[in-house]
Amino acid sequence: MMTSSELPNQGPGLPNDGRPRRRFVQTPRIVAIRLAIFAVLLLLALWGLFAGSGLVQVISGLFLLLSVALFAFGLYVIFRSSRAPHPVPEPDQGVGAAPETAFAAAAERASGMCVYPLQTGSTLVSFGQFFKGNEGWVGARAVWNMGADEATVFWAPVHVYLIVHPSQGLILVDTGLGRAQTRKGYYSARKGGLTGLIWKVEDNYLPPEQELAVQLERLGYTPADVNHVIMTHLHEDHTGELNRFTGATIHLSHAEWNDRERMGYAPSYEAIKQWHHFTFDSGRFHAFAGSKDLFGDGSIILTPTYGHSFGHTSLFVQMGDYQLCLAADALYSLRHLNPDSLAAFNYFGREGFATQIDSVRRLAAMQQALPDLLYIPTHDPFDYTSKLVQPFLADGVLSPEERAQLRAYQEQLFDAEGRLKLEAQPRFEGTSDGYGRVVAGLP
Ligand SMILES: [Zn+2]
Repeated sequence: MMTSSELPNQGPGLPNDGRPRRRFVQTPRIVAIRLAIFAVLLLLALWGLFAGSGLVQVISGLFLLLSVALFAFGLYVIFRSSRAPHPVPEPDQGVGAAPETAFAAAAERASGMCVYPLQTGSTLVSFGQFFKGNEGWVGARAVWNMGADEATVFWAPVHVYLIVHPSQGLILVDTGLGRAQTRKGYYSARKGGLTGLIWKVEDNYLPPEQELAVQLERLGYTPADVNHVIMTHLHEDHTGELNRFTGATIHLSHAEWNDRERMGYAPSYEAIKQWHHFTFDSGRFHAFAGSKDLFGDGSIILTPTYGHSFGHTSLFVQMGDYQLCLAADALYSLRHLNPDSLAAFNYFGREGFATQIDSVRRLAAMQQALPDLLYIPTHDPFDYTSKLVQPFLADGVLSPEERAQLRAYQEQLFDAEGRLKLEAQPRFEGTSDGYGRVVAGLP
């Protein structure tokens, strides 16, 4: 049994720690009331147009035009999203097994390599967005559902990773949520078109102690000390503090950069001049046809895990006698490792969903090639991240006992056939503050 004081799913600082309670929860009944009001207004406008005279007719006509325009715009947004070209993993590029050999050899030089997960706020997501890809949250339907579903939302933790690299110095993986993104008026259609309309500051929550600069300072660093930022993709919960790192080289896949106008929000990266837009041209890396040996020393291998976004990238970090997979949004939680059991939504439609599933299968297959590999997901709302990964990696490395515990946690989630056990399946549970949380028999 789980008592409310041992919440199974929330990262540090959650829930109910000063966030305003929700004033309004959208239920199907409220949606029906809204639609009824809209229908009455529409009838009034029609009546005004045909039965009224003079000014009444003009006002009614304008109202009708506005309604039609708004409706058409809504349809256009949904159509545009579902018709987005689906991402295709790049074919075999480069030759031989260079990254595989280099990655294995880098184990000898990994002494001093540290990885610190830092939670930089939380983002409000819907349960279906996270867990209902297999139940039809794909393409236009996913976009529609995400907009309409305000009844089953929860705060997902947002993690970034600070890598202390023995020869490259400080490397950040993503930049989390930033203070600017929580201020009223940050998002606007004027500055970011459609994407400016999609993001909402109310969906970003960042307590002061979770600000990236504050956490870097706690580890003895400042943003100016960071030499490299590896961006897994350009979604807003990953670009928050990017504009601070003007002195660093920002690594982002070419595919993601080319698609920046669809899901990226330009003001969140407008200060960056030093981009390195890479392709996966270093050759095969086990389950991945293409990869990028970022520094040419095998220490960090980037792989294309398209699907969640057009050019999404995951990382494999050589730690010596074990390896870490920083999967980012290719794997919302450890439970997503078997996509037949559990899958996230997909914005791009059926083909995008297939690409996303293919990426997860490749990530999961890496365990055979690298038996000492551990997965570190970015938004995992379960104990795996809050009670194991976070405290274990507080010193930047995993001891053999900690690795054994992480492996045991993973093993208990899946049955002998590799399916997610019934008791590990996530469920939504409403909370009194108007939000909710994710629970499971196996926390
Ligand atoms: Zn994302």
